[in-house]
Amino acid sequence: MSPARVAIIGAGPSGFYAAEALLEYSGRPIQVDMFDRLPTPFGLVRGGVAPDHQKIKSVTRVYDKIAMRPGFRFLGNVTFGVDLTCADMQSHYHAVVVASGADTDRRMGIPGEDAAGSHAATDFVGWYNGQPERAELRFDLSHEHAVVVGNGNVAVDVARILVAGADALAATDIADHALDALARSAVRHVDVLGRRGPAQAAFTPKEIRELAELPGVTLVVDPADLALDAVSEAHLDDDARKVMTALHAVAGRTPASGDRVVRLRFLCAPMAIVGTGRVQGVELGDNVIVDDDGPRAQPTGRSAFVPAGLVLRAIGYRGTATPGLAFDERRGVIPSRDGRILDSVDGASHVGWYVAGWIKRGPTGVIGTNKPDARSTVQSLLADLEAGVLPTPSASSENLDRLLAQRCDRVVSYDDWQVLDEIERKAGDRDGRPRRKFTTVAAMLGALDGAVA
Ligand code: NAP
Repeated sequence: MSPARVAIIGAGPSGFYAAEALLEYSGRPIQVDMFDRLPTPFGLVRGGVAPDHQKIKSVTRVYDKIAMRPGFRFLGNVTFGVDLTCADMQSHYHAVVVASGADTDRRMGIPGEDAAGSHAATDFVGWYNGQPERAELRFDLSHEHAVVVGNGNVAVDVARILVAGADALAATDIADHALDALARSAVRHVDVLGRRGPAQAAFTPKEIRELAELPGVTLVVDPADLALDAVSEAHLDDDARKVMTALHAVAGRTPASGDRVVRLRFLCAPMAIVGTGRVQGVELGDNVIVDDDGPRAQPTGRSAFVPAGLVLRAIGYRGTATPGLAFDERRGVIPSRDGRILDSVDGASHVGWYVAGWIKRGPTGVIGTNKPDARSTVQSLLADLEAGVLPTPSASSENLDRLLAQRCDRVVSYDDWQVLDEIERKAGDRDGRPRRKFTTVAAMLGALDGAVA
């Protein structure tokens, strides 16, 4: 039987787990073409996971094995919606799985949010990880105080990178431009703001312990902030108990002389970002927890001012619309049912189109959460394939290659990526680093041309 052809858009964890599930299928051979707009695979594992979390990044070895399976092709440096349209996909594939992730950020919707010095943490994360789209950004690190808004693991990541110190970061694969800027940074005090209390924090105990153990840094938590109100007590679950234990273990510390400081402040939300021309501080409103179908923050009317030259909002990633596909603006996801893309929120299914990962369920969970998510999407796809629901593509695989040769400067294969990977690792070896990253597409393509020559 001729292979069924499936395109996957996005080479992050959910794309790889979808590819794995498809290539394990024994009912019919499957050819998987995985597209990414970047020449490099691995999505947020390369561009999002913090550079001092190399162990988490080692999950890419699993993806390497998936990429080696017969039937898999990586087509990097190809942008869906620019180089290929929905119609192109439909004429070349039995099915398409969109696994493009959530590449932008939520907004606070407060005055001053766009002032110079106020940024989305997603941009800061992309910048220090050397994402080509964000490598040119600039962050002013000349002020002693910074504020991070949000109580998730991204907030903890960016606070840690701000205070970790260049010596510690020099042993990681942080982008060179970020290492240089952080080596000159004046930031010594970071306030991390939670609009709700410690019992509602979204960060995990491991990340708090790591922050507490950073050399040259004091994590400051006011013991009074850990006395829970009745609503928080009533809703305390096992995860929250573990977070509370981690916070109690560090509460009451006072900064050692010369230490940089990360201070966790709870029950306060930014009301305005203040400053003329650029950020000078944040006006904070105090909150209390009320029971409104769960613990919710309610303003007390009291406010305070914290100085800051840099504000990073780490209040969640957000997906963006994909050309030609419906989009749920409220949730920032592609509407779907059982992984099948719908033609509108609550609409009918768009035959042959599937979705997996953050663009399906929103920006939640750890890398491993994407495995069962992608597998359940692939189950729907395979059920449709077996039921004969998927139309046979009208054009050949060779025709797609011809189209790409006409439309794209250079399609980057998995072999090409492995050449880049080797160059990056060798460049890192010299300084005892895991790798030194290419941070522009031009540099990646130039290096590939050089390697071929
Ligand atoms: P997150 O876990 O959803 O946390 C978002 C935080 O922003 C919450 O504390 C939320 O508070 C707060 N928030 C939302 N809107 C706000 C507003 N308007 N004003 C003030 N605060 C607001 O998101 P994330 O930190 O971006 O992480 C995304 C996912 O990646 C999570 O599943 C996370 O665990 C994962 N991740 C894991 C690691 C790791 O394992 N080391 C590292 C990074 C990310 P409320 O709860 O009150 O809404």
